[in-house]
Amino acid sequence: MAHAIELKTMKKHLQAKRKEVMEGVSRAREMGSVETESGAPDIADRATSAFQREFSFSLSENEGKMLRMIDEALARLDSGRFGTCIHCEQPIEKQRLQAVPWARYCIACQELQDRGEI
Ligand SMILES: [Zn+2]
Repeated sequence: MAHAIELKTMKKHLQAKRKEVMEGVSRAREMGSVETESGAPDIADRATSAFQREFSFSLSENEGKMLRMIDEALARLDSGRFGTCIHCEQPIEKQRLQAVPWARYCIACQELQDRGEI
């Protein structure tokens, strides 16, 4: 590793975050199932539950994305490639990894990615 990152600490961060996301996902699913079982007697209620279903769906979609990124980061940790930008293959800034341990790109490449250029 070109830069001194405590891999064990990173792994702990990632696993803690993974647990947090998993708990969030199951909470969202529980909300979704309660919704379905309680039924919707009139149109106003149906509109509300449609909105809530959509909300919890997009929540789990985001969280699913997050889980994939965390799993990828854990896989990179195991393969010894953690902390390397998957685009330019330069080390990702240490501060960035501390804030976002599942980061796949360095800051410069993340900006390109956000603009859809890579
Ligand atoms: Zn990069």
